[in-house]
Amino acid sequence: MKTFSKSPVNTQNGEIIMKLKIHGTIRQSTVDGLGIRYAIFCQGCPHHCKGCHNPETWNFQNGFYVDTDDLLKEIQKDPLLDGVTFSGGEPFLQEKPLSDLADKIHQLGLNVWCYTGFTYEQIKDSELIKHIDVLVDGPYIQELRTLTGFRGSSNQRVIKLFPMSPKTQT
Ligand code: SF4
Repeated sequence: MKTFSKSPVNTQNGEIIMKLKIHGTIRQSTVDGLGIRYAIFCQGCPHHCKGCHNPETWNFQNGFYVDTDDLLKEIQKDPLLDGVTFSGGEPFLQEKPLSDLADKIHQLGLNVWCYTGFTYEQIKDSELIKHIDVLVDGPYIQELRTLTGFRGSSNQRVIKLFPMSPKTQT
């Protein structure tokens, strides 16, 4: 799997700071999973699905780095949130900062959904998958486009991995 060449971890005054490369965020999304969700769009995607709705997230050189603790502070401010969604770009190319962030999101009592262009079988042994409650897997296939069940195309599966809070219910 491709990873970013720059380290996702910085240290400042002895404190570890996780850096995540993102395209942007949506503070309250109702289309990226169940309930009201803070959506984080990672930068960089190798899948290049035909008809992708976010092609501006493909280029690994674009986007910007954020501290995951700064994202967490924003998430913490909103009492209406049911959870947080990691989306693409491809989240599974930034496993370390997202695993750390997911742990901290769970400590707030929120669940974590993640969209990936990989299939579950391709990433089932990865580090990040251990920190995800609901996975939406597989590439977007334009010919199989659907508007049901928080998926873009019918080949994608909404897979409940770890029901960690009541808000995880699908
Ligand atoms: S995996 Fe997602 S972001 Fe990447 S090309 Fe496919 S639809 Fe677009």
